[in-house]
Order: sequence, then structure tokens, then C-alpha cells
Amino acid sequence: EGIVIAIDGPSGSGKSSTARGVATERGLRYLDTGAMYRAVTWWMLHHEVDVDDAAAVAAAASRPVVTMGTDPTAPTVRVDGVDVAREIRSREVTASVSAVSAVPRVRERLVALQRAVIAEARRGAPGIVVEGRDITTVVAPDAPVKLYLTASAEARAQRRSREVRTTDIAATQADLARRDLLDSSRAASPLTRTEDSLELETSGLTLDEVVAIVVKLVDE
Ligand code: C5P
Repeated sequence: EGIVIAIDGPSGSGKSSTARGVATERGLRYLDTGAMYRAVTWWMLHHEVDVDDAAAVAAAASRPVVTMGTDPTAPTVRVDGVDVAREIRSREVTASVSAVSAVPRVRERLVALQRAVIAEARRGAPGIVVEGRDITTVVAPDAPVKLYLTASAEARAQRRSREVRTTDIAATQADLARRDLLDSSRAASPLTRTEDSLELETSGLTLDEVVAIVVKLVDE
């Protein structure tokens, strides 16, 4: 059976790059669960569902068909067969994703899908690296390797700004702070570190250094 590596942390903590780097180095599959919440959010906006109306979001939660490609060198995300890789990084989706992901029906559905992807990867491959906010707590609490990545507010804003290609680091930092508050204070699966997760502070480390630390853990 393949291994599962669970990585949680706030955005900009280096989760995605670390997870992809580790998966690529060790020949594992890769699952970005944030992209799944973003894909559902894109679908809600595209179908003019009022994302601030939790009942409306819950009523539509079973409609979008999300399909993830788990190759760490070229991950893909599709909704109803449409490639939405670019669209899910838009300002509109980023502004609405916390509201959509706070709806329990949305989470139930995506957690089930994530567990199915994990089960398939464990059967057919050496394993999978899964990253998000509730992987160590809800999706895969039995994973043999559990990590909680953190970084300073400044380091996270710098990284995120580079990712979304903006020079307005102050605005990015404000957006991250807003999402942190929403993601950690919501009733359904708030972002928290489990006691048995290894916390890794990545502010002063390069990506290669973080990947090397995690690969070493995986090999042990
Ligand atoms: O990781 P990323 O910033 O793309 O995640 C976008 C949003 O999706 C987060 O702010 C959070 O609201 C939600 N999310 C979640 N549970 C996960 C992954 C992401 O609620 N496992």
C-alpha cells in the first residue's frame, strides 16, 4: 500500500510548492485540495449562486463535478469537464472561497472525493502527498507523515504576491489575514494543528531546503 503524506497550513506557508516538490522527488501523486474548494467556488459564481447565502450554496453543492489530475509536475483541475486552472486563481474566486468552503455540504462532498483519490493512489502508486487545511485533522488523520507548515505574515505575503504576480504586497497581506481569520474561526473543520503533526516554520528556508527536510522524514 502506498504512503500518505498530509500537509496543512495557511496560504503562503509554502504548502503547494513543498507538496509538489516532495511528490515529484519521490514519484508520488499530488492533491491540492484548495484547488477543489476554488473549483466549486468558481462553479457557484459561474452559475450565479449567491455565495453569501449558505443555504443556496448547500442546495447546489452536489452539482459541480470536480475532477483532479494528480501528476505533481502537471496537476489539473476540471469542473464539469472544463479546465479551470487559471480561473480558480482569480480575485473573485479568492474573495469568495472562504464563504463557500465554510458550508458543511460542500466539505462533505469534497472530503469524500479527496478520500477516493487517496484510496486510488494508495492502491496503484507508491502513494500521494495531500495538502490543504483539514488533511491532518479530517481527510487523512491516519497518515503516517503529518506536517503543519507556517511562515511569517511577511514571508507568506511575499510568496503569494509572486504567485499571483502582483506588486501590491500590502493588499496581499491584508487578503491573507482576512482569509486566515475566516478559515480558522469557522465552525466546520477550522484550520488547526494536531498534536502529532510536525510543525515546520519555513520563513527563513528556501523551497529546496523545505523539500529536503520533508523527503528525509518520508524516507525514515
Ligand atoms: O490553499 P488555497 O489558498 O488555494 O485554499 C483556498 C481556500 O480553500 C482556503 O482559504 C480555505 O477557505 C479553503 N480550503 C479549505 N480546506 C482545504 C483546503 C482549502 O477549506 N482542505
